[in-house]
Amino acid sequence: MTAHRTSRREFMGLSGAGLAGLVAAQWRTGMAAAAVDQDPDLVVVNAKVYTVDPIVPRAEAFALKGGRFVAVGGSEEIKTLARKGTQIVDAQQMTIVPGFIDAHNHAPGPILLYEVIVGNPYEVEFVTIASIVDKLKARARETPPGYWVEGFFFDDTKVQDKRALNVRDLDQVSREHPISVRHRGGHTTYYNSKAFELAGVTKDTPNSASGTYDRDENGELNGRVTDRARNVFLGKGKRQTYSASETQARNRDALAFISKQFVRYGLTSVHHEGGDLAALQDVRARGDLLHRVSYEPADDVLEAMIKTGIATGFGDEWIKLGATFEHTCDGSFSERTMALSVPYPGVEPPYHGNVTTTQEDLNEWVERVHRSGVQVNCHANGDVTIDMVLKAFEQAQQRFPRPDPRPKITHCTLINDDLLRRIKATGAVPAPFTSYAYYNTDKFRFYGEELMRRCMAFNSFAAAGIVAAAGSDFSPGPFAPLMGMQGMVTRTGWNGETWGANQRISVDEALRVLTINGAYASHEDGIKGSITIGKLADFVLLADDPHTVPPDKIKDIAVVRTVTGGKTVHQA
Ligand SMILES: [Zn+2]
Repeated sequence: MTAHRTSRREFMGLSGAGLAGLVAAQWRTGMAAAAVDQDPDLVVVNAKVYTVDPIVPRAEAFALKGGRFVAVGGSEEIKTLARKGTQIVDAQQMTIVPGFIDAHNHAPGPILLYEVIVGNPYEVEFVTIASIVDKLKARARETPPGYWVEGFFFDDTKVQDKRALNVRDLDQVSREHPISVRHRGGHTTYYNSKAFELAGVTKDTPNSASGTYDRDENGELNGRVTDRARNVFLGKGKRQTYSASETQARNRDALAFISKQFVRYGLTSVHHEGGDLAALQDVRARGDLLHRVSYEPADDVLEAMIKTGIATGFGDEWIKLGATFEHTCDGSFSERTMALSVPYPGVEPPYHGNVTTTQEDLNEWVERVHRSGVQVNCHANGDVTIDMVLKAFEQAQQRFPRPDPRPKITHCTLINDDLLRRIKATGAVPAPFTSYAYYNTDKFRFYGEELMRRCMAFNSFAAAGIVAAAGSDFSPGPFAPLMGMQGMVTRTGWNGETWGANQRISVDEALRVLTINGAYASHEDGIKGSITIGKLADFVLLADDPHTVPPDKIKDIAVVRTVTGGKTVHQA
């Protein structure tokens, strides 16, 4: 870790003539000078501003007009820009950073708003199996027999009972309803006997390379099913249906709900993994969209883009088509199904995880997307699949060279020197888990220190000159950016365990990961990600400075105010 205190040189740079210099440096762009005649809408003074702009890294104040920064500098200078209609905010020496950007988030609004939540989506919390059973029973009582009853946000290492959920627990809920409980990691699900019966799965059903039906010590189904083995449940049992307009209304309310949650934690931009694009536009039209969306398309939307020539970047600064939805190549880190070149420590029979694509299919998919001008985004956790993804990128770029394609590798969890070199050479942008190093250290022991020294390798990426963005992967990881920052800076979890301390990065580097690097990942670093004249006025006011609080308190810093495009969207 690096020093948390402002260096003397930095401090001196903010005083007296130094401040005038800062303003002047920015004014040379010619944009701030215009602000003088422009009546800034808002000036913020008396703040500790970390701009994440290497030209002027620190400031005390800034001015906004039309939702953009028009001046950045010292309080005295910026105050003189205020006119009759200008609102002035005294930040009282609080810390201001650019709005946080989450470069990988499933934005599961409808689940949060309507479904049975059996764990805490936002914070570390231990629940009991009895509480899970009770919540599902309550839903089953109001659900006709034969219809699915589903639970979400289960975390197998946040259970007070200290044992796994199993088929018998879920049979207690009901034997007339198919029941499923999804692990928040998204790659494993627990089912009851009725669900297995409907899907025709028995203890004799074979596993495959892309998924398993797990058994207990007697060879009976224990309820847990991994990755693609779950496909047999598709189309089985009944589900409540909604008309198109009901669905859109539900999605609209759900997106408005999750937007509020995002800004509460300081996120002003989120890369959404798919979702209802029409509902998103409705939410915006109603004025309920509080954060900016880089929309990562799947299925029909992606196909339409490829067919009609709509490339990444289409849209505007509120809703823009980004890279693709993560194209899944292997399993999950948290649920221990990602594809490793070495067997999972201590697992018998030897298990290397699940690879969910072939190299041939992957090459074909990557090439087709890349050729069409859409930014490629692949989900690869293990070293085996990161290698496969890089092979596909390398080949596509060789056949159809495109300038600066920035292919995204979502998660990009376990690296080695060869992979680092090739990530750098292809200009790929990893989006590793950020909050895991705080939230999920209870799962790091399944991999062990040797592997964890190469997992979520933010320090290795920084040292290699690779731009890595923050990928909370919510639901799997909590999205709170400050929890992510604490994880990256300390590598110490809620349980006090530290894993892979060699991958610690400084507060400043973590701040870059959480801001400008996320903008870079969606080709938007020219318009956001730092407090820079001309950029979108997205910023967060923090009650304390992450550079000076004890590193294990960073996640507790209060988000006092979140501002998107000059508008206050959250105030504590
Ligand atoms: Zn994901």
